[in-house]
Amino acid sequence: APALVWFRRDLRLADNPALHAAVQSGRPLLFVYIREEDTALRLSPGAAADWWLHHSLTALAADIERLGGRLSLRQGAAADLIPEIVREAGVREVFWNRVDWPWIDARDRDIAEALQAADVRPRAFRATTLIDPASLLNGSGQPYKVFSAFWRAAQKDFSPRGPLPAPDSLTAADPIASDDLADWELLPVKPDWAAGFHDRWTPGEAAARKQLETFLGEALPDYKTHRDRPDLFGTSRLSPHLGWGEISPRAVWHRVQLQAERGQSFGAAEKYLAEIGWRDFAYYLVHHFGDLRQKNFDPRFDHFPWRDNPEGLQAWQRGRTGIPMVDAAMRELWKTGWMHNRPRMITASYLIKHIGCHWRDGMAWFEDTLVDADPVVNAASWQWVAGSGADAAPYFRIFNPATQGEKFDPDGHYVRRWVPELVSLATRDIHAPWEASAGQLASQGVELGRNYPRPVVDLKAGREAALAAFEQMKAEA
Ligand code: FAD
Repeated sequence: APALVWFRRDLRLADNPALHAAVQSGRPLLFVYIREEDTALRLSPGAAADWWLHHSLTALAADIERLGGRLSLRQGAAADLIPEIVREAGVREVFWNRVDWPWIDARDRDIAEALQAADVRPRAFRATTLIDPASLLNGSGQPYKVFSAFWRAAQKDFSPRGPLPAPDSLTAADPIASDDLADWELLPVKPDWAAGFHDRWTPGEAAARKQLETFLGEALPDYKTHRDRPDLFGTSRLSPHLGWGEISPRAVWHRVQLQAERGQSFGAAEKYLAEIGWRDFAYYLVHHFGDLRQKNFDPRFDHFPWRDNPEGLQAWQRGRTGIPMVDAAMRELWKTGWMHNRPRMITASYLIKHIGCHWRDGMAWFEDTLVDADPVVNAASWQWVAGSGADAAPYFRIFNPATQGEKFDPDGHYVRRWVPELVSLATRDIHAPWEASAGQLASQGVELGRNYPRPVVDLKAGREAALAAFEQMKAEA
């Protein structure tokens, strides 16, 4: 009797524990990806994520086919479809990797129970993170709330098994019905806002591995110094590949360790793996403290006087705040579905602190526009910037986006690349054009308020308003 392998955010064949176990079972296999009708499940959180999903499924289907299997696509509620497929195809075991999002895992437990009641064996595996969150507690048996302590403890007895190999071949069961991927309409039609995505990204498992190798060869040695520079290729750009599970954190961990053992990049490798650790930490927090998308980790922030500023929010979304570093980043996001970590922090800080919007407004926009949108990591990161998260940046530490620009985009290349209105500006003016005289700007082709906006929120006034709001919260909390 056949077994069913149910893919979700694990679109890979290598180091895939559910697939590995399914192959080991010796049963003929069926493979399915279900596009869930309930969008609140957020398996593909937004339109940019849908673009990625389309191409990643295409790659996965081809990889499965090469090994002799067939990926079926179905649309509907998994709670209905899984039992239906099981009945129709006489499936005896269903294999999947947990997504580790609490709302999905809770739903999956119900499916597992329903399968058991029908005498079918559900087999769920852990594949999203390096560390099993349940197994890591501090000396008093409590979960860690501080990253450095968490990561130190995590590394102490961390000897992860080597990554599981991809199967050489697959024994396929008689195929079941499949939708046509094109009918899901995951790609934009008109306007094609994803044109720039193609230049930047190749979704799929093979591309993920290649991206890791390129990073190790070209950028890992300088990671410690270049990781904060959005104008350089200084980070791995693996986030969408990791987020969709095209490569496992375990596989990355082993490959990076190997590189460190071979070469001189030991410190850089350590720093890089700590970033993978931050991803794990977000999942760890959610495992122990529940969904962070709705509730402030620090409940004092329930009293924060957020401002209602729809014009500010819209200017931010469109990359027209008049703050070059913020606008460059928001446009990079729109054009490529991705943004470097440093500008993520800068743009989030400007939205939350200067514009005064709730962090959830920014989180929602990122979910819709990022190809790497991950509801767990995104929520933890927004709360980190807001100051409401675990081990977060204190609220009162307010980034000045102009000085951030001078520091991390020192030649203005990043701004010029994404904000063409400012391409002729001298480097000394590029991060704070409002400080230059009108005559100076005009000689460089810029007229504020005409071909580039004045700041929607002045940096000094915005900072003071933010600090006043913080004081108000403390008084009320
Ligand atoms: P690298 O520096 O090469 O890091 C390697 C990997 O480590 C990344 O691919 C990622 O998986 C992980 N990582 C790196 N930095 C972080 C971090 N600060 N927190 C958690 N994991 C990290 N990352 C997402 O994957 N999805 C999101 O939805 C997301 N939203 C964010 C929102 C905000 C406001 C901020 C400040 C950060 C967010 N991040 C998110 C984290 C981080 O910005 C990205 O993971 C990183 O920029 C991806 O680029 P990279 O792969 O080149 O990173």
